[in-house]
Amino acid sequence: MKATCWMGRNTVEVREVPDPKILNSRDAVVRVTSTAICGSDLHLYDGYIPTMKKGDIIGHEFMGEVVEVGPKVSTLKVGDRVVVPFPIACGNCTSCEHGMFSVCENSNPNAGMAEKLMGHTPSGIFGYSHMLGGYPGGQAEYARVPFADVGPIKIEDGLADEKVLFLSDILPTGWMGAEMCDIKTGDTIAVWGAGPVGQFAVASAYLMGAERVICIDRFPYRLRIAERAGAETLNYEEVDVLEALRDMTAGRGPDACIDAVGMEAHHPTPAMYAYDRVKQAARLETERPYALREAIMACRNGGIVSVIGVYGGVLDKFPMGSLMNRSLTLRGGQCHVQRYLKPLLAKIRDGDIDPSFVITHRMRLGDAPRGYEMFKNKTDDCNKVVLTP
Ligand SMILES: [Zn+2]
Ligand SMILES: [Zn+2]
Repeated sequence: MKATCWMGRNTVEVREVPDPKILNSRDAVVRVTSTAICGSDLHLYDGYIPTMKKGDIIGHEFMGEVVEVGPKVSTLKVGDRVVVPFPIACGNCTSCEHGMFSVCENSNPNAGMAEKLMGHTPSGIFGYSHMLGGYPGGQAEYARVPFADVGPIKIEDGLADEKVLFLSDILPTGWMGAEMCDIKTGDTIAVWGAGPVGQFAVASAYLMGAERVICIDRFPYRLRIAERAGAETLNYEEVDVLEALRDMTAGRGPDACIDAVGMEAHHPTPAMYAYDRVKQAARLETERPYALREAIMACRNGGIVSVIGVYGGVLDKFPMGSLMNRSLTLRGGQCHVQRYLKPLLAKIRDGDIDPSFVITHRMRLGDAPRGYEMFKNKTDDCNKVVLTP
């Protein structure tokens, strides 16, 4: 089959690789009909996620048709259409029983590697480094889905791929980012990052009762998409974000702040950017956490900072004094996607949200290298790339 392979920094290739096979009794094999490139794939592409190996098949947002099931998968049959959540979860451990699927205790065969960096291991993730399981990803013609009786959701009512594909990650991720804000009617929420996840966080915050959502980015085309989802917007290359947010909230700050940027943030001040860029290059910190620092500083006293942007390791100049002295709550997590599949599918079916609004580019799988390059460099106003094999 053809698959998108990580070949080193800034290089992906679509290569001919062996077809996946059922390895365990709870596996299924899915023929991929649609897959997407995610902002977090750019952290792989840019070479910031450790434990990638040349030839690794990447991609964690995919859906398709079941072509084979293991003997213990009774919930799916050949021919079913499914969307596959990006975290791999067993459904039986304590974390899974509590709905914390992205920290499943049984799905990372390389747990020891993650424990060294993080203390304990999160779940395995499709196509996202050996530290997170070394699972081949879904930017391919076929994918093996472990614990297929737990993760995939069946799509039975003929909804188009483009409407449901993002249940695999970015829609529930944006939703969970807003949910962690404990939004009450009338709240003002600020979202750093107007990429697809930030755009879904904006839409979700409104669905949860926020009165105002303010979205922060530097690309006008992405801010325009956030505006279409209802956001007020700030371009951090044009305004001082902390000052602007104070002005917009009668001096108090937003009730909650969502970091939908993560480890490769940019900073308008060259000196500050250079500081973290150099430390990151020297492996003295793995992150450039400007969005997170700013979200903490901006948040109102007693507010919540919700982190859904991806971080990999350790960071510098973390404003702990602001967090502690001002009674802030810091929350984060890879999305527990399995928890949100049914309710969000219902919202799509009912027309409350049509996630396809984020798509700007549709390509064939063979064009994945061009898709990565465009998405990374933000050429042609590239917001979200969907690939079809
Ligand atoms: Zn993703
Ligand atoms: Zn589990």
